[in-house]
Amino acid sequence: MKRTLIALSAMLAAGAALAEFPEKPVTIVVPFAAGGPTDKVARDLGEVLRKGLNNQTVLIENVGGAGGTLGAAKVAKANPDGYTLLLHHIGMATAPALYRNLPYKVLDDFEYLGMVNDVPMTLIGRPSLPANNYAELAKWLEANKGKVNLANAGLGAASHLCGLLFQQSVKIDMTTVPYKGTAPAMTDILGGQVDIMCDQTTNTSGQIAAGKVKAYAVTTMKPLSTPALAKLPTLDSQGLKGFNVSIWHALYAPKGTPKAIVDQVNAALRNALKDPEFIKRQEALGAEVVTDNRVNPADHKKFVEAEIAKWGPAIKAAGQYAD
Ligand code: ASP
Repeated sequence: MKRTLIALSAMLAAGAALAEFPEKPVTIVVPFAAGGPTDKVARDLGEVLRKGLNNQTVLIENVGGAGGTLGAAKVAKANPDGYTLLLHHIGMATAPALYRNLPYKVLDDFEYLGMVNDVPMTLIGRPSLPANNYAELAKWLEANKGKVNLANAGLGAASHLCGLLFQQSVKIDMTTVPYKGTAPAMTDILGGQVDIMCDQTTNTSGQIAAGKVKAYAVTTMKPLSTPALAKLPTLDSQGLKGFNVSIWHALYAPKGTPKAIVDQVNAALRNALKDPEFIKRQEALGAEVVTDNRVNPADHKKFVEAEIAKWGPAIKAAGQYAD
């Protein structure tokens, strides 16, 4: 009898603790610099996610560097109590092919919480670049072989993947300049310190609309409907047949986070993805919120597995590695 009572009160205590989650702010680690595309998604998402998290504040912690792997490693090792989450993108699926000694296992060290958005990319250049459209850029790249600088957010970043595929497509090697995120890279594009960059529309659409950078193409097969980007042709239609890169963001927690918390964050995410303001804001930046089954943790994980299989061979063929 006494033992049953003790077991019962332990169960009630555990239930009570979960029912109260979260009782303090929740931190989302963004593995890139503040003010960049992933950071913007996290901050917008945090505002709506909190409605499903007892209205607690959602804090954003920027842990940039090494193409997103430093931030992901930090979350993989964090306390699995639901208070530390990770918002990461396609780099989650490309890092295993790029890093010989990745300090975490993408498929084993995280709880998958659901996917957030799909984001196309754009090819942009410094304002002083003498090329005003893609045909002129292609000529300029040919004429400047060996001297072209390409900005990215490190090995494993979306800008790295897109830039890598672009170099392969045009058969021109460029000097890559890595940053902790494309926010600082954009500062250098604007300042003319680097030549070109392939970056997410969430970071470039404002600069393109304001005419502050040269815009050459979108990286999807179809043009985009977002007003700021609607006039931008695809790379596919301008000679790079089949060029198609679109990236995605998703939420994770450290492996071992209690199922009840995983379910609660997933429910908060589902509600956030239906929030009209969040949807509108994402669309204005060229991104699309996920409305399909990838919002389910199991389908999210399956999608990441498929992305690892999709991009791994192309990355390995390019022969770029880090330790
Ligand atoms: N997501 C990165 C950032 O937020 C950029 C990238 O992956 O290219 O800066």
